[in-house]
Amino acid sequence: MTQPLVNLSGLDHAGIAQALADYGIPERQIKMRTQQVAHWLYYYGVTDIAEMTNIGKELRAEMAEAFVIERPEITTSQISEDGTRKWLLRLADGQQVEAVFIPEDDRGTLCVSSQVGCTLTCKFCHTGTQRLVRNLTAQEIVQQVLVCRDSLEEWPSPIDGRLLSNIVFMGMGEPLYNFDEVKLAIEMMMDQSGLNMSRRRITLSTSGVVPMMTRCGEETGVNLAVSLHAVRDDVRSEIMPINKKYPLDELLRACATYPGAANSRRITFEYAMLKGINDSIDDARELVRLMKQYRIHAKINLIPFNPWPGTPYECTDWDQIKEFSETIFGLGISAPIRMPRGRDIMAACGQLKSASEKKSKAELLREAAI
Ligand code: SAH
Ligand code: SF4
Repeated sequence: MTQPLVNLSGLDHAGIAQALADYGIPERQIKMRTQQVAHWLYYYGVTDIAEMTNIGKELRAEMAEAFVIERPEITTSQISEDGTRKWLLRLADGQQVEAVFIPEDDRGTLCVSSQVGCTLTCKFCHTGTQRLVRNLTAQEIVQQVLVCRDSLEEWPSPIDGRLLSNIVFMGMGEPLYNFDEVKLAIEMMMDQSGLNMSRRRITLSTSGVVPMMTRCGEETGVNLAVSLHAVRDDVRSEIMPINKKYPLDELLRACATYPGAANSRRITFEYAMLKGINDSIDDARELVRLMKQYRIHAKINLIPFNPWPGTPYECTDWDQIKEFSETIFGLGISAPIRMPRGRDIMAACGQLKSASEKKSKAELLREAAI
């Protein structure tokens, strides 16, 4: 019986070493071969073992019998009028996740998913309505970066002026509920002989999994973004059930002591503007008061709520969002309004996947009618 080929794409050094050892590469060569393979995979972005020219021709030919370098299948790939790119990726077990690339004047940000679906059920979030299917592996998280680099034709990994400069864990899922794999993926993203992303340009967004926040800061050193969305426990518990477990006081204390936060590294708070729920000027003032009370060096990202079919919420009126933002600015904290990008391709979190699910349901209905 023939063994299935092992996919090297997205494996970390330990994974590559294991694959090479299983294949029968002699022990004394493993370290060197692993470094060679990883460099080809993550610095040059090759997708064919034949291209690994510092490995002898014969060995390469043998390895091509045992290994493949495959990205996940791209189910849908869209480019918005504003340059935003979005991919829906099919994983080996058929599950699908999405990744979005957002180009801006001074940076290009890839938003990656960490889980298929989410166990949390924030009421304003479409991913929250999808049941968690499973955690992504580090390999699957890193593959999202590879797909983006392929699409931007950004190989070998450039040092300066790169199109893909920033990574945010703001796609599907709660990254701190999949910390081990997320941490491994972050280490691979930062590997200087490979993808070589800067730690300062990686941001992890959490809904507030307090017990994991310090570990995240200590073990990865990446920037932290916190989905705040409300300034009172009753409102936050209503729209984000995780607040019942880790209420505002615990959350904000964990933010105040986030490793690195004292050294001018600001924590970003995400705040989706929900009409009549969390958007009063009193809320804006309370937000600033909380930041001062807990001595948090903060930046507030105001996100116009992105509605989805069946949502109970509406987005706050534009004038009110502006006044909310100006109130916070006036009290000394930066509170830019994050303009929606890629509207024409539904680039907001969770929406491409749901559109494709809807399509397949419509297709099923059509088939049933025939
Ligand atoms: N699970 C993590 C990261 C993914 S969500 C977290 O909750 O932080 C990325 C950001 O988008 C979060 O701040 C989330 O609250 C916000 N968000 C989710 N659905 C939204 C919607 N429909 N409109 C605006 N922001 C939304
Ligand atoms: Fe999950 Fe984040 Fe959506 Fe909440 S906002 S349901 S934590 S993905």
